[in-house]
Amino acid sequence: MNKRDAAKIPLYISMHENDNVAIIVNDGGLPAGAVFPSGLTLIEAVPQGHKVTLCDLAQGAPIIRYNVTIGTAASAIAKGSWVKEALITMPPARVLTDLPMATHKPAPLPALAGHTFEGFRNADGSVGTRNILAITTTVQCVAGVVEHAVKLIKSELLPHYPNVDDVIGLEHSYGCGVAIDAPDAMIPIRTVRNISLNPNFGGQAMVVSLGCEKLQPARLFPKGSIPIQNGGDPVTVCLQDQQHIGFQSMVDSIMQTAKGQLEKLNLRRRETCPASDLVVGVQCGGSDAFSGVTANPAVGFATDLLVRAGAAVMFSEVTEVRDGIDQLTSRAVSAEVAEAMVREMAWYDNYLKRGGVDRSANTTPGNKAGGLSNIVEKAMGSIVKSGSSPISGVLAPGEKLQQKGLIYAATPASDFICGTLQVAAGMNLHIFTTGRGTPYGLAAVPVIKVATRNELAERWHDLMDLNAGRIASGEASIADIGWELFHLMLSIASGKKTWAEHWKLHNALVLFNPAPVT
Ligand code: CA
Repeated sequence: MNKRDAAKIPLYISMHENDNVAIIVNDGGLPAGAVFPSGLTLIEAVPQGHKVTLCDLAQGAPIIRYNVTIGTAASAIAKGSWVKEALITMPPARVLTDLPMATHKPAPLPALAGHTFEGFRNADGSVGTRNILAITTTVQCVAGVVEHAVKLIKSELLPHYPNVDDVIGLEHSYGCGVAIDAPDAMIPIRTVRNISLNPNFGGQAMVVSLGCEKLQPARLFPKGSIPIQNGGDPVTVCLQDQQHIGFQSMVDSIMQTAKGQLEKLNLRRRETCPASDLVVGVQCGGSDAFSGVTANPAVGFATDLLVRAGAAVMFSEVTEVRDGIDQLTSRAVSAEVAEAMVREMAWYDNYLKRGGVDRSANTTPGNKAGGLSNIVEKAMGSIVKSGSSPISGVLAPGEKLQQKGLIYAATPASDFICGTLQVAAGMNLHIFTTGRGTPYGLAAVPVIKVATRNELAERWHDLMDLNAGRIASGEASIADIGWELFHLMLSIASGKKTWAEHWKLHNALVLFNPAPVT
């Protein structure tokens, strides 16, 4: 049978033997009357990625996917039906007490040695996958001037420094007009600080400040935050300084300072580094029902490989793991780590409550069109990115990662905010899975995009870096794609360009500021 004929056979995927629903695999969905190899017949048309009942469900019966109750039947649902969102009553969130704390002790996986990449070693031991001059801004007011100067630096200076990959302005909306002494203000402030210290920037912090803003350079970089070997203080250009007579003087000053930074960065060379020097952030966005079947499990497999190789891997997105909190606290290496996870979840529950919503505010129209009925189902498919290793540590939003292993970095699920906070944590490589499709990219760190479906990978052939849809069509196993992703990570870390880098697709840095603005 050829591939085209094989694609016509009605297929569904069930994630666990206890599941009473499964998702439709076939491109374009299936019509009423379609008969599966198991003998199940559809009694109505079901779109691709949406759920079919494998048995009759009484009103109030649990609807089980991933061996987890994703909701209960709002009314009786006959075998072979399309389980539409309106037929599912969502359960309340798991309370954050009486959780299993560090109870599950998986057997340690064997160490994985011998895998390397070519990276830029920094004075503090961290390793960059790119060599970038980043210009930190203390306030949005300077963004236009910095953007103007960055264009000139790229065209006039950068060609003279062949070992430097790029020049970027770290533009953001923070810095003034904010309640800077509010307790939660430490989140955006430490985020900007730690982004500036990302390993891809070589420890060479350069700051452009306005002068009258609340976030003064000395507040952004208190003594001790920049390593002594990198000068101890950032080099700073202040636009309101008396010496600047007119716009050109400001631009000249930024150019002159950038030249000094480029000279230092140009001395960096790639050297062979063990895979343990990778700091990988995993994320999903534009998810569909295949995310949790193909791409995310393959990422989970690669996550286990990275942990075995001694690297650091962060998974995030609070609202997309909240419904699996018991799975996570049980996998923590210690009660302290489990408690830190509960602390972050409780903080976020409260943050959402202040805004008058709960975790169900997460799902998008696209998620639902792609077959994800609610946040419980979405969360179960999202958590699998974390693989099966014990969870070694927890980061609060904007904190810098200081350890190896599997880390829960608490961030919102918003693609840009999550990516921004993972850059601040020190990520040097980003893995991003998508089912609906997004052209997401970051200027600071390469982003490897993994498609969940063949149809998306084919249609967006010059945007997706890897196709995990081959898992659903039976052409590859989760392990095959996981290994492929692992090897792709090593080559992208060594300088090979992602599609987003090829097209220079860069989303904005978006700070998480839960504190008031004034
Ligand atoms: Ca996301």
